[in-house]
Amino acid sequence: MEKRVYNFYAGPAVLPEEVLREVKEDLLSYKGTGMSVMEMSHRSSTFDEIIKNAEKDLRTLLDINDNYHVLFLQGGATLQFSMVAMNLMPPNFKADYINTGAWSKKAIKEAKRVGEVNVAASTEEENFTRLPKQDELKLDPEASYVHFTSNNTIFGTEFKTEPEVGNVPLVCDASSDILSRKIDVNKYALIYAGAQKNMGPAGASLVIIRNDMLERSQETLHTYLNYKTHADKGSLYNTPPDFTVYVIGLVYKWLLRNGGLDAMYKTNLEKANMLYDFIDESDGYFKGAVKVKEDRSLMNVTFRMLNEELEKKFVAEATEKGFIGLKGHRSVGGLRASIYNAFPKKGVEDLVEFMKDFKNKN
Ligand SMILES: *Cc1c(COP(=O)(O)O)cnc(C)c1O
Repeated sequence: MEKRVYNFYAGPAVLPEEVLREVKEDLLSYKGTGMSVMEMSHRSSTFDEIIKNAEKDLRTLLDINDNYHVLFLQGGATLQFSMVAMNLMPPNFKADYINTGAWSKKAIKEAKRVGEVNVAASTEEENFTRLPKQDELKLDPEASYVHFTSNNTIFGTEFKTEPEVGNVPLVCDASSDILSRKIDVNKYALIYAGAQKNMGPAGASLVIIRNDMLERSQETLHTYLNYKTHADKGSLYNTPPDFTVYVIGLVYKWLLRNGGLDAMYKTNLEKANMLYDFIDESDGYFKGAVKVKEDRSLMNVTFRMLNEELEKKFVAEATEKGFIGLKGHRSVGGLRASIYNAFPKKGVEDLVEFMKDFKNKN
């Protein structure tokens, strides 16, 4: 077995080792079929079972009822910036967006091509170092929907509860914290997430859409860009990313085997607290990048050091020791430890030890 490193990349990101071993086991012949899932017709009964089981397990994990469709699409979370607006903006063609970072901004950019965007709140002036509070939201009761980004992968903030939006449908980009904890899906009209942060390899995006939202899509939309197409065909309108869906399905089974989302949340809290506590108790040697503690992400821990030189040295030495991917996003600098579901607790313990050691020596 090759040596595995501690992988802190923000995405594509670490996968459970158990899942990778299963993939290896199945690689030449998936369950006696004599072929890999990569080589398999998406119309075969074997693949049909794979995608149906993935959906069934996701429904169990998040307690999703028949009021929702579950879709596996392509184009990443980025295509959803467009599809959400194209499909859900009618008939009013105006929507509320909460601007909490680079991904929100990209979603807003695409929505503006379709209709009127009301930025209900933004913390851009504070460099996105906190989230807007409920009473800062200037919501339009006539908006077609309210869009928010539940976890801001780059800045390291995370909504701990959904914004309250009354009767207006709530839409969420949950790319980097989906399945990190239980959420009440019934509060949402639509949730989307790219797979490659907390669910699987790149190549698929998950869309959970409430059935009534499907009625909004206009006939003039391009076929592929219409949610109804994919809902009607069970995500098999065209060739799906079948290998990615298969690995996602294994990750769902791994989550179920390990106690589901409540157990995962408990571990995620322990992991994040361990790291934040150490940062807070380092006498300012390390500094959390997020100003408001309640807004800190459990998935992407962002922090800084005294100066860039020290940060550079830190990343270089960490890399040498097998802590990979700690450099912050290129747009903000600093440091970031992405500790998704699959990231082992032992890795956080070892990182804290390394940070202690580095602090003593430098
Ligand atoms: C990574 C990310 C995206 C973009 O995902 P792609 O799959 O690369 O399109 C969008 N939103 C959030 C919150 C992300 O973390």
